[in-house]
Amino acid sequence: AVNRTPLIAGNWKMNLDHLQAVAFVQKLHWTLKEAKHESESVEVAVFPPFTDLRTVQTLLDADKIDFALGGQDLSAHDSGAYTGEISGQFLAKLDARYVIIGHSERRQFHHESDEVVAAKTQAALRHGLVPVICVGETSEDLEKFGASAVPVGQLEVALEGVASDADIVVAYEPVWAIGSGQAATPDQAQEVCAKLRAVVADKLGADAAARTRILYGGSVKSGNIAGFMREPDVDGALVGGASLVVDEFAAIIRYQK
Ligand code: PEP
Repeated sequence: AVNRTPLIAGNWKMNLDHLQAVAFVQKLHWTLKEAKHESESVEVAVFPPFTDLRTVQTLLDADKIDFALGGQDLSAHDSGAYTGEISGQFLAKLDARYVIIGHSERRQFHHESDEVVAAKTQAALRHGLVPVICVGETSEDLEKFGASAVPVGQLEVALEGVASDADIVVAYEPVWAIGSGQAATPDQAQEVCAKLRAVVADKLGADAAARTRILYGGSVKSGNIAGFMREPDVDGALVGGASLVVDEFAAIIRYQK
């Protein structure tokens, strides 16, 4: 992770309403402050449900809390007759910096194809958002094709037509490791993350590959984060379950290599 600011991202999924979000963000902020967390060295991002975003934005702004904000998804379209969808321009207006795209739960429960993920990546970039592009293999994929073939293929499609100077984040999330308590080993994560970096180099060039942060996600906890962060091609973590527990998420942010 030479010269790349580590990113610890908390995907809340469908948890915490806007009132619970206020209490959570304040508690996390104070926990990190008490421990003298150096916010320069690690970037912290939270991804609340859409209905929380305005409230969390106001709180971050009012209390000068240095967490980045992100959406958990966005529409591939900019506006119009798409009932229930959220445009990237709405997220950008709320000072969201990031948006998660192609999370395995979207791919599984909402049948999002690689092409939809690519269209959403373009939508994010059109509105100045940094797409956090999620890729990863299921346990069946792992058995049939090994660990890297599916995530590499998914990323190749997502990066189609992306400019070489685009600001993107990639998250390698083996589906079998998400919410299962069975994380990949640091070696496994490194192997796939290195291959994903090679895809970025191939599609966007060497500079982009050197600059782009690649996260590992899947049952990250305070007890295993350091091992991942020691790997040269792992630049942070996308955290689900453990991002909802203040002390646990704070300990992940304060990992020591
Ligand atoms: C996720 O959903 O992105 C995730 C990594 O979940 P968990 O940390 O709970 O495995």
